[in-house]
Amino acid sequence: MPHDSPYMNQLWQKDITYLKKVGPQRAEALKKELNLRTYSDLLHYFPRKYADRSQVTRIADIHYETGYVTLVGRIEKLENIQTKNGRSMLKAVFSDGSGFAELVWFEGAKWVQQSIKIKEEIAIFGKAALYGNTVQITHPEMTTTKEENEAANVLKIVSFYPTTAKMERLGLDAKGFRTIMVQLMEEMGSHIEETLSDAIRQQHNLVSRKRALVNVHFPQSWEQLEASLRRIKFEEFFFFQLMLAARRSSVRVAHHSPMMGKVGPIFNEFYGKYLPFELTGAQKRVVKEIRTDIRQSAQMNRLVQGDVGSGKTIVALLAMLLAKDNGYQSAMMAPTEILAEQHFLKISAMIEPLGLKAVRVAGSQTAAERRKALEMLISGEASFAIGTHALIEDTVQYQNLGLAIVDEQHKFGVMQRARLWKKQNTDLYAHNLIMTATPIPRTLAMSLYGDVDVSVIDELPPGRKPIQTMQFKESRRLEVFGFIRRELEKGRQAYVVYPLVEESEKLDLLAATQGFEKLADIFKDYHVGIVHGRMKADDKEFEMQRFIKKESRILVSTTVIEVGVDVPNASVMLIENAERFGLSQLHQLRGRVGRGGEQSYCLLMAGMKVSKEGKKRLQVMCDTSDGFKISEADLQLRGPGDFLGTRQSGLPEFQLASIVDDADILQEAREAAFALFAEDPHLLEPQNAPVKEAYAAYLQKNAALAMLA
Ligand code: ADP
Ligand code: MG
Repeated sequence: MPHDSPYMNQLWQKDITYLKKVGPQRAEALKKELNLRTYSDLLHYFPRKYADRSQVTRIADIHYETGYVTLVGRIEKLENIQTKNGRSMLKAVFSDGSGFAELVWFEGAKWVQQSIKIKEEIAIFGKAALYGNTVQITHPEMTTTKEENEAANVLKIVSFYPTTAKMERLGLDAKGFRTIMVQLMEEMGSHIEETLSDAIRQQHNLVSRKRALVNVHFPQSWEQLEASLRRIKFEEFFFFQLMLAARRSSVRVAHHSPMMGKVGPIFNEFYGKYLPFELTGAQKRVVKEIRTDIRQSAQMNRLVQGDVGSGKTIVALLAMLLAKDNGYQSAMMAPTEILAEQHFLKISAMIEPLGLKAVRVAGSQTAAERRKALEMLISGEASFAIGTHALIEDTVQYQNLGLAIVDEQHKFGVMQRARLWKKQNTDLYAHNLIMTATPIPRTLAMSLYGDVDVSVIDELPPGRKPIQTMQFKESRRLEVFGFIRRELEKGRQAYVVYPLVEESEKLDLLAATQGFEKLADIFKDYHVGIVHGRMKADDKEFEMQRFIKKESRILVSTTVIEVGVDVPNASVMLIENAERFGLSQLHQLRGRVGRGGEQSYCLLMAGMKVSKEGKKRLQVMCDTSDGFKISEADLQLRGPGDFLGTRQSGLPEFQLASIVDDADILQEAREAAFALFAEDPHLLEPQNAPVKEAYAAYLQKNAALAMLA
């Protein structure tokens, strides 16, 4: 049957009311409760779990971990019981010769009583619970052994659909659902069309779509089920990746940027004379990748991922110098004033011998200062603009912006980023470089940024000693203090951090101040300082300076030690109630030590009650200091939604596939989609006709996502 057959379309979109065994009342409930309206919706309503009912269990063999069982036997006795809260309950005694089981119904008692014949042989199926020695099954499914021929219920593996109490009352329990699915398959089964080309299916070893959809509802075997799930997940990823491939290409076609192919005197002079250290291999590689990108007229869209301290700033500066060599200005946007200021000072110092100028653009500057900065940008006197999101204000204009850099990308939304590089008065857009210290796991980067190229700085500058991380319980506190004392005696310094109690800033402060008093008492012979969010900026600065100048040796603080604190002499980071911190926070905090040549330590003090997840987090911290591994674990523990926060909405909802658990399938689907797009971007080849049609439907369904381009 041809793909565009109107009959086909009608069948997909047919209202489930017309499906046999559904009818108006159930259809209404399916729409209201589960948002299932059409045949197609129902076909894609997948079981949540499966149970093997090919094996009959003896009641005598049931134990605590048995779970779902099929029993064959007879009901000996049936009685209605009034529960305490006035409701009635139906209870049956079931026997199979090896023992007795209690069957219980809280609903539908009347129907059960009508349909059961005492002493007749039946098969029951349900989840066995053991109370003492009594086996109990609530709401079992029952089939008379005569009925056992009924297709859906005698298959080896049965499926369970997520349902609701209301649906169950309408007979749409597990068995009821299976019944309508059988009906659906009868009408639709032979009309399930392929959406992938033979070539892709063969290359990636995928079963047909028909086989996958039939088997996912009615698995013939566990092997078939697995192959079917894989096929469906692949498809979910595939069309999303195809969209990303198309988006990337349309960006490349539509957005032209200046071709900056020259490596000129400015870059060379800096590289030869003023580079403060030898670049790491990873830094060199990334600079090369950037050079290759900006040589072309297609806009660069590159994400540089590198752990804290991996040296992203110098890479950014080198790219800015290349832009300058080609006659273009650069802008660099950072998420906080402190970071922007830090970049501004560092970069200004480095470019001074080259005779280049940078200007600062930030909210805190005076009107006069701002005016001066804007003038220098528009006249071209300044080569670089460094600042906060003040940079995207309309008043900021350039003589010729060629490169836009965003530091700490995750703090900015997609739109804000675009507003930085779109600032150009010609039809050329600035090349776009994004830097992030919160490494995004590879799988997530792939699915989110299919339209962005990713560079990784996966090497730290030489000479850094890995930080040793250890966890402790309260009972070992004296040991921990002893450890800190020994470090202080060696001349080192220590941070002690207390967690943020989100609900109460007061409690935070209390924990920190009490901790401070205790520490001041224990370490009487050393100065102990404290900084917290409620302090005045001046006082905070005063305490920070004391610590930097080594006048105080222990610094107590709540939550975050200001970004940019760089005290190489500090060798200990003690984190109290460490289980309350998220993984990325712990990783950032740990990054405050290990900045000098000495061995540094991170001590994680666990509270009294630590959740399972909390324990895992602490273990991860002790096991690795690799930001990517930590990120990967964080994603595993929290799931993509929480991990990304609400800001990133670039991901579609996958029904079966998970970017965390199905990373390998994602990788394959991405390769397949990008390869296909490269070969046949408009899907004009006859063998790609099914893909084309399915893709059009996908775009229609995901219109909001498709717009993001
Ligand atoms: P981040 O990637 O966190 O932004 P920075 O660019 O701030 O890292 O670099 C961290 C520190 O490492 C800085 O003091 C920087 O001067 C230094 N650094 C960067 N690259 C190297 C290198 N190749 N060799 C030695 N030190 C380096
Ligand atoms: Mg940085």
